[in-house]
Amino acid sequence: MSVLIAPKTTVFEATSAACRASGAINLGQGFPDGCGPLAVREAAARAVIDGPHHYPPMAGLPELRVAVADHYARHLGLAIEPMDGVTVTSGATEALACAIFALVEPGDAVVIIEPAYDAYAPLVRRAGGVVRAIEVRPPDWRIDRQELARAAEGARLLIVNDPVNPCGTRLHADDRAALADAVLANDAWLLCDEVWEWVLDPGVAHASMLADARLAARTVKVGSAGKIFALTGWKVGWLCAAPALGARLRAVHQFLTFTTPPSLQMAVARGLADDAGWLAAMRAEIAGRRARLAAGLREAGYAVLPSDATWFLNVDLAASGVAMDDAAFNARLIADHGVAGIPVSAFYENDGPRHILRLCHAKAAATLDAAVARLGAALRAVT
Ligand code: PMP
Repeated sequence: MSVLIAPKTTVFEATSAACRASGAINLGQGFPDGCGPLAVREAAARAVIDGPHHYPPMAGLPELRVAVADHYARHLGLAIEPMDGVTVTSGATEALACAIFALVEPGDAVVIIEPAYDAYAPLVRRAGGVVRAIEVRPPDWRIDRQELARAAEGARLLIVNDPVNPCGTRLHADDRAALADAVLANDAWLLCDEVWEWVLDPGVAHASMLADARLAARTVKVGSAGKIFALTGWKVGWLCAAPALGARLRAVHQFLTFTTPPSLQMAVARGLADDAGWLAAMRAEIAGRRARLAAGLREAGYAVLPSDATWFLNVDLAASGVAMDDAAFNARLIADHGVAGIPVSAFYENDGPRHILRLCHAKAAATLDAAVARLGAALRAVT
C-alpha cells in the first residue's frame, strides 16, 4: 500500500457521514448555515443561462483575475499583477496542490505548523517532499523559535496558514516576523494559505505575509471565494504571486484542473468588485454566532479557548473536567448525544494535544442553542 497518501478517509468526511447517518447536529466540518450573497448567486444563475459556457483561459477569466488583484490592492495594499500574477483554481485545495507540486522536488524538506490543515502533509509527500512539522499548542498557539530554526534549516518551502484553522486565531505578529526571517535565512519559498482572511470578528484586521517586500518574489498567497462568500461548495480559489513565480504555478495548474467553471468565476468577480456591504454584514454575523456558542458553552461548564477568526472555536476538554481524549469524547457525542465536533488531535501527525475539541459556530441560532443543550448534557454525563 502507498505510504504517500494517508489511506484513511479524512476526519471531516467521516464525521459528516456519521452525522448524516445518525441525524446528529454537525459542528464538525466547516460549512456555514446560509447561502452567501444573493447578488453573487444571481450573477452565477445569469451566467449559467447566458454564458460563458466554454473553456475559459487556463489562468482564469480576466474579469476575475482583475477583481482579485483590485480586491487585495484596496483592502490589503498589495500590488499583485492581475494578468500574470493571479491564477484562478478550483478551490484553495487545488491552489495548495498546485503550489506544492510547482515548488517541491523529491527529497525537499517542507515545514508545516501543526495543528495543520489536513491537505498539506499528504500533498507534500505526493510531491516527494519530506514533512518537517513544528507544533504549536493551546492556549496561545505560539511558535517556538528554536523549533522553527531547526525545522527550517535547509527547507525548500514553509507552509503558513493565517488565520489558523483549527485554532480560530490569527498568527502573532512576532511569529509572522520569525517565519519571514526563517524563509529568508534559508532562501526558501513561502506558501501562505490565507483562505480565512475575511472571516474575522469586526475590528480585527488580517495582515498578509505577501505585504512584506522582502518576501514578494518568493511568496504564494492562496485565497478562496468559498470562505469569503460562504459558498463552500463552489470551489473557486486563486493563487497570487509575482509574475515569474506565477508562470511556474500555471505550468502545474494547466495539467491539474486546467480551468474552473466560468459561470462561477463571473459571479465571484462580481462579488469581489462589490464586496463592502457583504463583508461587513458577514463579519458581524460571524462574531454574533461565535459569541452565542461561546457563551452557551461557558454556561454549560466548558472551558472555551479565545478565538476571533475562522468559523471555529475550541474547548479545552481537560480544563472542562473531561477525562476522555478528544476523539473518544467526540465519538461519544455523536453516538449518545446527537452532536459532533472535530478532535483537534486529528490535525497533528505525531503527538499533539489530545484534549481539544473544535466546534463550528457558523450556524443558525436555533442550531447553536440545540447543540449547546446536547453538549451540556454530554458534559454532565462524563463529569
Ligand atoms: N485551507 C484551509 C486552512 C482551509 O480551512 C480550507 C477549507 N476548510 C481550505 C484550505 C480549502 O478551501 P477550498 O474549499 O476553497 O478548497
